[in-house]
Amino acid sequence: VSEPFTVLVDTINNLQRSISGARRLYEVMDMVEENITDGTSLPEAAPSIRYDNVSFDYGEKANTLRNISFEVPAGRSIAFVGPSGAGKSTIVKLLYRFYDPASGQISLNGLPLPSYQLHSLRQHMALVSQDIFLFDGNIFDNIAIGRPGASREEVERAAQLAQAHDFITALPQGYDSEIGERGIKLSHGQKQRLSIARAILRGASILVLDEPTSALDVETESSFQSDLGQWAANCTKIIIAHRLSTIREADYILFIDDGEVVEHGTMEQLIAIDGRFRRYWDRQNVSVAASA
Ligand code: ATP
Repeated sequence: VSEPFTVLVDTINNLQRSISGARRLYEVMDMVEENITDGTSLPEAAPSIRYDNVSFDYGEKANTLRNISFEVPAGRSIAFVGPSGAGKSTIVKLLYRFYDPASGQISLNGLPLPSYQLHSLRQHMALVSQDIFLFDGNIFDNIAIGRPGASREEVERAAQLAQAHDFITALPQGYDSEIGERGIKLSHGQKQRLSIARAILRGASILVLDEPTSALDVETESSFQSDLGQWAANCTKIIIAHRLSTIREADYILFIDDGEVVEHGTMEQLIAIDGRFRRYWDRQNVSVAASA
C-alpha cells in the first residue's frame, strides 16, 4: 500500500496514550481517508469475511503470511491461535488495509476489499482490547471519540450496553471524571468496557477482539464474554485468542504458526486431530490448573 498507510501504522504504534498522540492519530486517519473516497459503502449488517490464499511480507521479513484462507459467515466468530510472532495481528492489519496482500484476495460479502471506501470499511471495524488508548480528558470524551459529535444520550446508551455505565456513575464526577496521566486509574476490566462502549457508539459490524496474553484478574476474566453481550452477537468477530474460555466459544479456529494455517476446524475437530492445537490446549490447561 502507499506511504500514508505505513505512516499511519507507525503513528498508532508510537503515539498511543498521549493526548498529542490522540490528536495526531485522528488527523492522520482523516488525511488518509479524505484521499480515498472511491468505492461502495459497507452495509450496516455484519458482513461475511473471506481470505483466499492471502500472502504478505513486511519487506525485510519474507513470508510473514503464506496462503492464508478462511471464511467467516456473517455474524459468526473465528479465533486465531498460535505462538507469538506467528502472524495473527498481521492478518487483521490486512483487513484494516494498513497493508494490502502481495497475492491472494480478501473479500467482504463476496466483494474484494478494495471495492469498499476505506473510510466506510474502518468505520465498521472496532478493536476491543485492554490496551485501549485513553487520552487525558474525561470519560465522556474518551467514549465519544468513537463517534465525534455524539450526544450525551448516545454516549450513555453505549456505556450501558457495554456495562460501563454503572461503574462510571458510581465515580464522584461520573462521566466528567478525568482519566489519563493525572486522572483516576481504571482497572483492566473497566478499560475494556470503555473500549467496548466506543465500539458500540461507532456502530461497528466487525469486531476485532485482541485478548491480552497475560493473566487477568478474576473479575475481568469472568465478565469478559458477558460484557460483549447482545451487541457482539450482531457482529462478525475475529478474535486473537489466548484464553481457553474464549477459544471454546469461537465458531471456528485457525492454528497459525510461522505465517501459515497449520490446523483449522471447530474445537472438537482440532482436539480430535491430536496435533499442534491439542498440545497447545493441553499446556494451557495445565497452567490454568496450576494457577488455580
Ligand atoms: P503476537 O501474538 O506476539 O502478537 P502475532 O502472531 O500477532 O504475534 P504478528 O504481530 O502478526 O504476530 O507478527 C508476525 C511477524 O511479522 C513477526 O515476525 C513480527 O516480528 C513481524 N512484524 C510485525 N509487524 C511488523 C512491522 N510493522 N514491520 C516488520 N515486521 C513486522
